[in-house]
Amino acid sequence: MKKIQMVDLQTQYATIKGEIDSAISEVLESAHFINGEQVQAFADNLAEYLNVKHVIPCANGTDALQIALMALNLKPSDEIICPDFTFISSAEVIGLLKLHPVLVDVDANSFVATLKNIESAITVKTKVIIPVHLFGQAAEMEAITDLAKKYNLYVIEDTAQALGSDYIFADGHRKKLGTIGDIGCTSFFPSKNLGCYGDGGALFTDDDSLYERIKMITNHGSKQKYYHQIIGCNSRLDSLQAAVLNVKLKYLDSYIESRRKAAHYYTSRLKDTEGLVVPAENEYSVHTYHQYTLKILNGKRDALKEFLNKKDIPAMIYYPVPLHKQEAFKTTARTHSSLEISEQLSEQVLSLPMHTELSQEQQDYIIEAIKTFFDTTD
Ligand SMILES: *Cc1c(COP(=O)(O)O)cnc(C)c1O
Repeated sequence: MKKIQMVDLQTQYATIKGEIDSAISEVLESAHFINGEQVQAFADNLAEYLNVKHVIPCANGTDALQIALMALNLKPSDEIICPDFTFISSAEVIGLLKLHPVLVDVDANSFVATLKNIESAITVKTKVIIPVHLFGQAAEMEAITDLAKKYNLYVIEDTAQALGSDYIFADGHRKKLGTIGDIGCTSFFPSKNLGCYGDGGALFTDDDSLYERIKMITNHGSKQKYYHQIIGCNSRLDSLQAAVLNVKLKYLDSYIESRRKAAHYYTSRLKDTEGLVVPAENEYSVHTYHQYTLKILNGKRDALKEFLNKKDIPAMIYYPVPLHKQEAFKTTARTHSSLEISEQLSEQVLSLPMHTELSQEQQDYIIEAIKTFFDTTD
């Protein structure tokens, strides 16, 4: 059996090596490393895949979130609502821009911020809601966009972990995550659903004027070279990464299928194991399993992780510290609700190896190890 990895990008590369290598050598030969034709081609292809009007590539997912906030003309006292249980980027950019992060608690089963907690955090200073589609599963976008309309707020979707996921509206129609709020943000970090071979990110919007501003901000606040209307930054996806992404985008749906198949196999064999809870799939989205995350009960999470590691099975804790307990947010973050679910999750969650190349033999080995752990400890 092949060594089990949390994410196996070597094996995936081997399956598309021919196409990737020729796409990369095309860029090398053209020597257009910045703003090569691959970049616009990728933006167009991704816009078509997502069915969104504009895709603006940028340097990484954190930049995408920062640029989205910069595009909204916010003032220093403005409040931005963000879940407490997420990767740091979602809230870091709020602090970076001297805005106020307001952290809200999440749902114990789907791990995304609940509508009730979001609504109760709204004040006259609230300007933006940042729903995070954590681990590949959607926040309640239909209700969140209704809420945003009611209170006149912007919605920036953090789609870094859920690119390609479908949202299913009450009337049955579907949209890709990241295209429902005012601006969607994503990351092409190598391990994400659509990953490049370095750093990369993008923003999406259907709004023409937001598109103009975002495009300017990513390019030093400029439309015309050496003329700068606003303060922006330098945030580009380079041609080599765009070339890789152009190849991999064609496989995104099949990659998602592989993740879902692996996830459903884990779930089918682990769901009756006492002492753990398998991930829940909400009915209003298609979970793309960026992570397959168990809840380990009775304080046994760390012991199980160690037990698996000894058997050469990697397992990771996403995330061990909720945002409100991070040193960096000690003085800036505000909370309007109890954050007990988020705290509880940080002590219970354990993510198993999840990627497009997991074999059933590897999964059986992982599953048997977990069952052995629960059979032999008390
Ligand atoms: C990965 C990630 C980001 C940031 O993406 P980078 O490309 O690493 O900057 C933002 N939000 C979430 C939820 C992420 O998982």
